[in-house]
Amino acid sequence: MASEHEGGCVIIDGKAIAGTIRSEIAKDVQDLSQKYGKVPGLAVIIVGTRKDSQSYVSMKKKACAEVGIKSFGVDLPEDVSEEELIEKIHEFNSNPDVHGILVQLPLPKHINEEKVLAEISIEKDVDGFHPLNIGKLAMKGREPLFLPCTPKGCLELLSRSGIPIKNKRAVVVGRSNIVGLPVSLMLLKADATVTIVHSRTQDPEKIVREADIVIAAAGQAMMIKGNWLKPGAAVIDVGTNAVDDPSRKTGYRLVGDVDFDEAKKVAGWLTPVPGGVGPMTVAMLLKNTLEGAIRKIKI
Ligand code: NDP
Repeated sequence: MASEHEGGCVIIDGKAIAGTIRSEIAKDVQDLSQKYGKVPGLAVIIVGTRKDSQSYVSMKKKACAEVGIKSFGVDLPEDVSEEELIEKIHEFNSNPDVHGILVQLPLPKHINEEKVLAEISIEKDVDGFHPLNIGKLAMKGREPLFLPCTPKGCLELLSRSGIPIKNKRAVVVGRSNIVGLPVSLMLLKADATVTIVHSRTQDPEKIVREADIVIAAAGQAMMIKGNWLKPGAAVIDVGTNAVDDPSRKTGYRLVGDVDFDEAKKVAGWLTPVPGGVGPMTVAMLLKNTLEGAIRKIKI
């Protein structure tokens, strides 16, 4: 689906797949609205005036509007107290029109991020970062209410590209709370045999070369070379790194953790950067909000 071939390698078009998912979501939102007279609601809390955070937030609100999800925006000043921020979260926890709550990170230094995120009701934790959701993801026989968006997007790219996971060797490069660790747990739940490579791993290339599926999430520009890959491997590149490029107006361009030009000669499937995992993250946020709403509205 929605992919193009380059040599023997399928370049997975994340933008097109995300577009398909958004249309599916828009249809489900319309169905909910027609049957129950209610639409999903997402609350987005932003603290301070960081330009990057503001642009992420406005992108998320725009994406909500496009599929019919109602967004509730709150802009708090940089010097807001932790108590005031938590109060806002509690308000949204008890608002029945809000099915998902998102606190845009990073937060200012005087605010304890861990404490704040733990205040979000697990039933509205659309980012999937609540320790209870991650804990359930890690445990056999338990199901989290929400899966973190970027890892969920990676698995969706695999499944919509027809790439089997069960019985396969998967190597995840990176072990962060938001990408590496949860994506490893999700692959494990899907019956892959999973190895995690991190900054202290010896001979990472030897381990990566054993993988049928590689998820690259180290934040290291073009670290994974063509000769690190097993021929035919499925390679999902989460990395988003700015590198100097004087030929561009901006003076930089974005590259992944995988050396794209080398990898496409060896891999069976490969995601580009940009246009691979990135668009899927926002699509999965919308999907999580829809799923949260369906759980509440349909009971
Ligand atoms: P973090 O910096 O939090 O984590 C990076 C991880 O990679 C760490 O576990 C680190 O190991 C490991 N690592 C760093 N260097 C190496 C190395 N040389 N070899 C092996 N492992 C290494 O990053 P994030 O997880 O937040 O993000 C990873 C990348 O994904 C970034 O480029 C980020 O921009 C991108 N990203 C993209 C998203 C999207 O929507 N497309 C969303 C989120 C992230 P250790 O634990 O030992 O320090």
